[in-house]
Amino acid sequence: MGQFDGRVAVVTGAGRGIGAATAKKFAAGNAKVAVLDLTEESCQAVVDEICAAGGSAIGMGCNVSRAEEVEEAFAKVADLLGRVDILVNNAGILRDNLLFKMTEDDWDMVMGVHLKGSFLCCRAAQKYMVEQKYGKIVNTSSTSALGNRGQANYSAAKAGLQGFTKTLAIELGPFHINVNAVAPGFIVTDMTKQTAERVGADFEQNQKMAAERIPLRRVGQPEDVANVVAFLASDEASYVSGQVIYINGGSR
Ligand code: NAP
Repeated sequence: MGQFDGRVAVVTGAGRGIGAATAKKFAAGNAKVAVLDLTEESCQAVVDEICAAGGSAIGMGCNVSRAEEVEEAFAKVADLLGRVDILVNNAGILRDNLLFKMTEDDWDMVMGVHLKGSFLCCRAAQKYMVEQKYGKIVNTSSTSALGNRGQANYSAAKAGLQGFTKTLAIELGPFHINVNAVAPGFIVTDMTKQTAERVGADFEQNQKMAAERIPLRRVGQPEDVANVVAFLASDEASYVSGQVIYINGGSR
């Protein structure tokens, strides 16, 4: 028995980092989880870990920026697991650069994964959710939505996701579908490690310095985000929709 008994959760970009922690959190609450990432192989470790712990999960290769792959993946989830109750749009990439050095490709890639990817997955998932008259969607924004040097593409995409979330909450609310977003600050994952490496900083040192500026005096872990995502996807949050929850240790 668990909080997500009978529920089917789809988490994109779940092969590692925040997505992996989120998939494991749903599985621990007894949801059947579809672990999506660029390739099926990159999902395997998370699927194996969930199954070894007694949970239920399947892995699927799905590039969220490609409409046909997304449609196919959701049809397969509905076919294999019976429903689509929860969607977490987590897949993400960085292509940081100052504006004058940012290429069109840097812009398109980031928009394609974060914004278009979330749009495509929501569009595919809502078909099942509207029919069920039940659904929970959690999009992944970021504190960068408020502006961050070197991230014109990423911050625009993450700010866009906030408007997207609020609009879907209005459109899908009548079908008992809650749509919210989380906006994490500094979370320890490969993504923040790569950012430190790109600017030639030591990752451990980088975390220490970030922690000193955060009111709660620590950086976040993937589970800090997974816990909030799980709350928003649970029936305990059934009157919460169109909200953006910052998970940043109290930073402004
Ligand atoms: P991560 O460790 O880099 O994980 C991102 C995952 O998304 C990877 O497994 C990646 O696959 C996958 N992915 C990339 N492009 C994809 C695509 N087109 N289709 C499907 N999957 C794709 O990053 P993370 O830190 O866990 O970030 C997860 C989300 O949180 C992202 O949306 C990120 O922007 C957001 N976020 C993170 C932080 C932070 O501090 N870490 C803060 C705010 C927001 P590959 O392994 O093949 O690249």
